[in-house]
Amino acid sequence: MQVNNTAIKIRKMVKKFAEALAKLEKPGLISHIGPDGDAIGSQLALNFWFRSRGIKPLLFNDDPVPDNLKWLSAQEEIRIPTEELLDRCDGILFVDGNDPFRFGKMAAYFSDTARPLYLIDHHLDPPDGFFREMLWDSDASSTAYLVYSLFVETGPEHITKEVAEALYSGILTDTGSFRFDSVTAATHFAIGSIIKHGGIKPSEIYSRIYDNKSLAEYHLLGTALKGIRLLCDGRVAVMQVTEKMLAENGCSQDDLEGFVNYPLSIHGVIASVIFYEREGRVKISLRGKSLVDLNQVARRFDGGGHFNAAGAWHPGPIEKAVNELVPLIAESLP
Ligand code: 5GP
Ligand code: MN
Repeated sequence: MQVNNTAIKIRKMVKKFAEALAKLEKPGLISHIGPDGDAIGSQLALNFWFRSRGIKPLLFNDDPVPDNLKWLSAQEEIRIPTEELLDRCDGILFVDGNDPFRFGKMAAYFSDTARPLYLIDHHLDPPDGFFREMLWDSDASSTAYLVYSLFVETGPEHITKEVAEALYSGILTDTGSFRFDSVTAATHFAIGSIIKHGGIKPSEIYSRIYDNKSLAEYHLLGTALKGIRLLCDGRVAVMQVTEKMLAENGCSQDDLEGFVNYPLSIHGVIASVIFYEREGRVKISLRGKSLVDLNQVARRFDGGGHFNAAGAWHPGPIEKAVNELVPLIAESLP
């Protein structure tokens, strides 16, 4: 019964959201900085949703599309947002994030603009009263799953090959290839339907996204894995990557994608944290196994995210960040 009530509530929300979006004639779609598969996949699928209705949105991101996702966006122009470009839109849709600061340098614009803002997202704690309409569910495995719901509500026949590729990529990457706690029957049902409608081949998409590592990246991974420290009676794993380690291996920060997940496979580890130097500060990524609220921990360090996956910042150096953050996790351990 509970499941049915939730399903009905979500369907109503999807319907209301679709009606609100359908009124836009020049929507802007913006995804979060440092975009991942869910951000880009959801943004592109939404772009096609509007296109299927004869509307051509403007697409924005402050950062470039990562190399392993460029094939997805090859036909579409994703621009760096400016006031002039955003002013051309009659509504702006935030994709895969609810904090304006996660959307780059135009954060202040969003707080001031008279243009209606919309949200499609699964991150915790969207700000009160900021968005005119939201398609938001923090239990959703990914934003792409919510975009899929939009297609289901308004016409699943519009899930073409390109839409299916975008949705599949979003769900695949945000679920850690279907292994996170957020994965349910609904996730797999959606994936089945996406594959069928779009006629796509999952193994090809997986390969395009993940089978493109360099040897240098694996060498860096080896060094990082060797440096893992187990703290809090082996329940918290800490990994770090310094600028020096990157330079010694000929790598960049882009090569760190997914590193933080490895320690979660160590027996007994329930939270994994990676610390690395970025833009003169320390960027922190946290991943967990549903036992510690990592969103709350991240919020204490200028960040946020989900219960099981969050990001944060510390002024540095790394060792100080470790010494200040780990006790907060320790406090929250069951
Ligand atoms: P990642 O560790 O991959 O950077 O991010 C994990 C999750 O936390 C993602 O869902 C991401 O959106 C969120 N996240 C990462 N960095 C930040 C941040 O600086 N601020 C907030 N609010 N969320 C973040
Ligand atoms: Mn996401």
